[in-house]
Amino acid sequence: MCFISSSIYAQSTYYQGATVIDGTDNEPIKNATIIVTDGKISCVGSAKTCQISGQKNVINVEGQYITPGLVDAHVHFNQTGWIDGRPDGIAAPEVYPYEKTSMANLANPERWLKSYLCSGITSVFDVGGPFWTTQLHQKFAHSNDVPNIKAVGPLVTWVTVDAMQLNDEVYTFLPMGSIEEAVASVDKVRQSGSDTVKVWFLTPPEDKRDELDARMYAIGKGVKDSGMKLIVHATTLREAKVAIKAGAKMLVHSVDDKPLDQEFLNLLVTNKVYYVPTLLVHGGWTRGYSSVALNLPLPIDDPNGCVDQETLDNITTPERLSSVKPEWLTGVWAFDRLQSSGMQLSQMNENLLKVHNAGGLIATGTDAGNPLTLHGPSIYAEMEAMQNAGLAAKDIIIYSTKNGAGAMGGSSKFGTIEVGKTADFLVLSEDPLKDIRAFRSVKQIVRGGKLHQQSDLAYRNID
Ligand SMILES: [Zn+2]
Repeated sequence: MCFISSSIYAQSTYYQGATVIDGTDNEPIKNATIIVTDGKISCVGSAKTCQISGQKNVINVEGQYITPGLVDAHVHFNQTGWIDGRPDGIAAPEVYPYEKTSMANLANPERWLKSYLCSGITSVFDVGGPFWTTQLHQKFAHSNDVPNIKAVGPLVTWVTVDAMQLNDEVYTFLPMGSIEEAVASVDKVRQSGSDTVKVWFLTPPEDKRDELDARMYAIGKGVKDSGMKLIVHATTLREAKVAIKAGAKMLVHSVDDKPLDQEFLNLLVTNKVYYVPTLLVHGGWTRGYSSVALNLPLPIDDPNGCVDQETLDNITTPERLSSVKPEWLTGVWAFDRLQSSGMQLSQMNENLLKVHNAGGLIATGTDAGNPLTLHGPSIYAEMEAMQNAGLAAKDIIIYSTKNGAGAMGGSSKFGTIEVGKTADFLVLSEDPLKDIRAFRSVKQIVRGGKLHQQSDLAYRNID
């Protein structure tokens, strides 16, 4: 039931006739009406529940499907989708001066934001980057031409990556060389205005594990004491458990080294920790390396023309790296890595099903910005990989909308099509409950109540 005073009819838009899948466990509503008023959903239901009476602004979406806008819960605005954004992978300053790449990202964040909205992604969570990323939310707070944004800022890590520490102002990592240093890094993140601390907890050498655990716990306490939230990159079962015990509310990747055990599943479910599978990012790196090793431009999966020309030019000219490629990067190395990527994916698939079956909170994330994990369209393949792993489309829709909002701390504001939520939703021409590939058929994107035709957001026309 919904009540609407006549005074707001004038500003309302009515989407009429679609099947609405609202991002919750509710059954789809056929031939539904959604009323959008002042950027929010003011009614959703049958034509009888949400009556249209005399107003003009009716959008006919008969025969189409409406879902909440997609949420990519793991991206990096300071990475490009190619190797130029990750000099720690292949260092090639002669071809890709990192400072130039990074400054271009800072100067033009709209480049990626457009790719996201174009692909049907209405909210993005940057889980690690320079301090400037934490200002984007504020900068674009009143724009309905970009997705809703959250960014955590620099990663706290025991690893040093000189190639990515650009200068004193633009850097991506904060140290945790001792307990005191770890706690000071937490404070630095807090001062930047971020409400979330991300720890890049790469698997430590065996003899360092205990002391790094202690620093992880100290970070967890510091985060809790300052009222912030902890999220962690930990892909080994042992470190992932330590992360949750230290207070992590989100694991930004799958555990991929071994099968999840009952202790992990209990920790994850009891502590309501979001588990973001990122099934394909490793394979993207492998394809990127292979492309360079073999001098072979690989096909780009961009069905709706959402990738900008400069990115396409970079990706399709791997030969630019041929004179500077490292010696280890051979065809044989690439084929070995393709095989190991396949093994790793099957472990991640198995673990994803375990988390799902245990009732864990799963949120879709791509790790976009990494080589060949492209800002925007990479979400389609990620959702399809979740489907291939054995998840049902109806669950993947929830994981890619409602749960993404939850992972961003935005459940009360967006992520579902419910009265009072921000009007972020998609019009698809195919049924996503039959096959998650239907998100490739996105035709219209409503962001904060503003209607965009997908083709208007594209960088290129796709016939
Ligand atoms: Zn990442």
